[in-house]
Amino acid sequence: MNPSRRPLIAGNWKMYKGGRTGVELAQACVAFARDLPGVDVVVAPPFTALAAVAETIEGSAVTLSAQNLYPKDEGAFTGEISATMLVECGCAWVIVGHSERRQYFGETDAFVAEKAGAALAHDLLPIVCVGETLQQREAGETLRIVKQQVDAFLDVIARSKHAVAVAYEPVWAIGTGKTAGPAEAEEVHAAIRAWLEKKDAALAARTRILYGGSVKPDNAKALLGCPNVDGALVGGASLDAASFGAIARAAAS
Ligand code: PEP
Repeated sequence: MNPSRRPLIAGNWKMYKGGRTGVELAQACVAFARDLPGVDVVVAPPFTALAAVAETIEGSAVTLSAQNLYPKDEGAFTGEISATMLVECGCAWVIVGHSERRQYFGETDAFVAEKAGAALAHDLLPIVCVGETLQQREAGETLRIVKQQVDAFLDVIARSKHAVAVAYEPVWAIGTGKTAGPAEAEEVHAAIRAWLEKKDAALAARTRILYGGSVKPDNAKALLGCPNVDGALVGGASLDAASFGAIARAAAS
């Protein structure tokens, strides 16, 4: 396996686990990650917990991600956070284009690409999320929609030498308990790999393609066993250290 495609398991804490509970969860992640040297474990707490979690995971195998950023370096953008600020806080990663941001905050493919570019300009690695809605899947449009989303940021990630991650997260599987089966996930992951390959073989070789959408300890092994699934972006199950640790262990095996 290409070493830059080591399994990556990222926990998206969403708007949960601020303050003390976030620190406790991070401590538990540090403990299980110690026994999993072959897996990259990433946690994405809410903004307000980033600094405390950064301190908690310092010197450990766990790395820090933010859940969002604003694609300007600084300025009068009340309530927003820049890539530089995230780096100052200790972040190595940032999630961009999560379906909840596309759905509730109107983020377009172009804006997601701009965010990925802003992150890379500051050596912050984006985890760029793509995925179709249930309606789009039922209309047979999955690959067309996901390709459109990937095409929007392909030039941006191809220009960078950094190894970014793309997360395929079918919207109908997020937080619903429904998951794509391994074959359904692999079909989309293989297509994404092929689009990256067409752009640049080295890009395809270094990009980790994560699956996200109700990943749990009991389905993780089958999903992570697919040839083009390089890890998982985990929401709900990442809020419980035992579940998140079990998913990371499934990635190691
Ligand atoms: C997510 O928020 O990225 C996610 C995949 O959530 P869940 O695992 O809860 O479906």
